[in-house]
Amino acid sequence: MTRVLLLGGVGDALRLARRLGPEHLYSLAGLGKVPEDLSCRVRVGGFGGAEGLADFIRTEGFDLLLDVTHPYAAQISANAAAAARLAGVPCWALRRPGWQPQPGDDWREVADWAALVSALAPFRKPLFTLGREPLAHLDEIPVHQHWTLRLLDAQPEHPRARCIAARGPFALEDERTLFANEGFDVLISKNSGGNATEAKLQVARERGLPVLILQRPPLPEVERSFADPDTLWQALQPLLRDSR
Ligand code: NAP
Repeated sequence: MTRVLLLGGVGDALRLARRLGPEHLYSLAGLGKVPEDLSCRVRVGGFGGAEGLADFIRTEGFDLLLDVTHPYAAQISANAAAAARLAGVPCWALRRPGWQPQPGDDWREVADWAALVSALAPFRKPLFTLGREPLAHLDEIPVHQHWTLRLLDAQPEHPRARCIAARGPFALEDERTLFANEGFDVLISKNSGGNATEAKLQVARERGLPVLILQRPPLPEVERSFADPDTLWQALQPLLRDSR
C-alpha cells in the first residue's frame, strides 16, 4: 500500500487532496485557508527544513512525496527533493508551465526586486500581484507612485498604497472592472501559469498595459515531473489501487 505525502498550497493540490483517502496526508504551510472537508489527513505548518521533512516521512512511513506547491515556492520544493533523497522515497512534482506572451504583449521580465524597482520607475499606478513581498517596501514608494497590492489577507492602511484582500480564481469581467476603475498603468506579476489568475494578463493585453514579470526560480530535478495534475493523478493510480 503506497502512502502519499502531498505538499500543497495551490488549487491543483487541493483538487488532488480531495481525491485521497485517510491513509494519505495533505500538508500546508498555513498561509491560506485550511480545508475541513477532506477524507485525507491535513497537516499545517513547516517541518523544519529538509531534514525535518525527511524525519517526518520516515516516522510516519510515507512511500511517496508529491510536490504540488506553487512554482515560486522554491524553498519547499528544494526541501522536498532533498528530503525524499534522505528518506529514500521518490519525489514526484507538478511543474506547471508558465504563461507565454501573445503577439502585442509588452512583457518585461525582471530577475529580482531591485530590477523590478528600476523597471517600475516610469510608472505611476502599478498593480502588484506578487503576494506579500511588496509589503516590506511600502516605505520606499517613490513620490510619483501610488501602489495597489492584491494579496490574500487585509493589511493596515498606508498613505501611499492600497491593499486589496482577495483570493483567486479571478473572473475576466471582474478583472476588467478593477482595471477600468483603478486606472493602473502597469501590472506586476509572477509567471504562475494555470487558469486561476490568468485573466489579469488578458486585461493588461486589452488595455495595452506593460507587464513586469518576476522570473521563475530554479526548481530541483525529481524522479518524475508532470505538467498537469490529471497526468500526475493517472500515474498515481496503479500505486493507490491497493490502498483504496
Ligand atoms: P517557500 O518559501 O518555498 O517555503 C518556506 C517554508 O514554508 C518552507 O521551508 C517550509 O517550512 C514551509 N512550507 C512551504 N510549503 C509548505 C507545505 N506545503 N507544507 C508544509 N510546510 C510548507 O514557500 P512560500 O513561497 O512561502 O509558499 C508557502 C505556501 O504557499 C506553499 O504551500 C505554496 O505552495 C503556497 N503558495 C505560494 C505562492 C508563492 O507565490 N510563493 C503562491 C500561492 C501559494 P519548513 O522549512 O519549516 O518545512
